[in-house]
Formats: sequence, structure tokens, C-alpha cells
Amino acid sequence: MPVLVFDLDDTLYPELSYVHSGFREVAVFLAPQLGVPAETLTAALIADEAASGRGQLFDNLLRRYSRWSKALVMACLRTYRQHQPRHLALHPDAERCLQRFAAWPLYIVTDGHKEVQARKVAALNLAGRVRFAYLTNRYGRHRAKPDPYVFELIRQREGVEAGQVIYVGDNPRKDFVGIKPLGYKTVRILRGNYAHLPADAAHEAQCRIHSLDELTEEFLASL
Ligand SMILES: [Mg+2]
Repeated sequence: MPVLVFDLDDTLYPELSYVHSGFREVAVFLAPQLGVPAETLTAALIADEAASGRGQLFDNLLRRYSRWSKALVMACLRTYRQHQPRHLALHPDAERCLQRFAAWPLYIVTDGHKEVQARKVAALNLAGRVRFAYLTNRYGRHRAKPDPYVFELIRQREGVEAGQVIYVGDNPRKDFVGIKPLGYKTVRILRGNYAHLPADAAHEAQCRIHSLDELTEEFLASL
């Protein structure tokens, strides 16, 4: 039986919902210190993220209120990373896909801060629905995608050839380029930040889909 492996962020659920959940926690933390309602701070962070992306958001917010300090930025980052995400939900097509293939060996492979990723897996109730969620960060930073290390762990654990393993991800910068040369099958879902990112032949997946509803047994057998 083929082995179906999913990326997490923006493949199974919208990562922005996690980001906004973190912003709300940071806003609640900062509100009494800045004397500004948490809703105002949340809205500012969301607007700033939409306009310029992540990176300096907390710095910019604190500067706007003339309260920037390295310690306060670090406290915001800690609050964000340690927050318990609320209201995370799978994409509806991801929910259907996990149900459809519930009898298959299913896995998750995701990069990022290991405790953050673990909290997302827990918030989405995924632990009981996959054989294992591999957080590459647990094996060292150098095991992040495109490194094939955890994919090889899955292959060995299932006792299959690479050609029996299908990886579904959204980021052509790193999701496919490391495992394709080893013979893994790859599918790119076009959503999230990378939906419109062009990819050369080495970085592009074998197939591109717009919805996980397109993953059927026939489709997977045709890869
Ligand atoms: Mg992703």
C-alpha cells in the first residue's frame, strides 16, 4: 500500500489562522503595558503582516508607541511562540482527504520550531489520525527540508521503496527538491504564500493540484 505524507502549514490548514491566533495573544499581553485596547493592537498586527509580511512586526508595533526595547520584543516573541493556538481548523478538503485515506499509512513532515509545530498538531487533533507527525526540527536544524532524512525514516519504518511514498506540500522552494532525486512521488498543492511561485524543473512537483479533493486512489496510482 502506498504511503501518503503531508506537509502541515498551508497544506492541511491555513497557516495564517495560527499567525492571527498568536497576534491576539501578543496583543492581550501588550494591551495593559501600552494602554491600548488589545483589539486595536491585533488589527494593527494583522494589517502590518498583510502589507509587509513577518519579520519586524513586533518591533514596528512597539516603535509606533515609543515603547521599543529588545526585552519587550523578546517577550512578544515568547508569547507568540508559546501560545496555545485556538480555533485552528483543517482546510475542509484536508478533512475529507484524511477521512478518505484513513486506512492508509499517513504521515506528516513539517519544519519549524518543534514546540510550535507540536502545538499545531495537537490543536488540529492530528496525532490520532496519522501514524506519526515528523517534526524535522527534533532531529536537528540540518534535517529540515529539503533534507530527505525523515522521509527515509518513514520509508524504512514502512519497509517500502521511495516510489511508494507520496509527499504533498505547498512550498516548491524546499518541499520536493530533496526527495525527488531519490524517487519519491511529489504533489504540489497551489495555495498559501507560494501558490504563485514559479519553480524550475528540479523544484517543481510531479503534479500540481488546487484542492486535496483531487487526490483519489486513481490519481495517486497514476503518479
Ligand atoms: Mg507548507
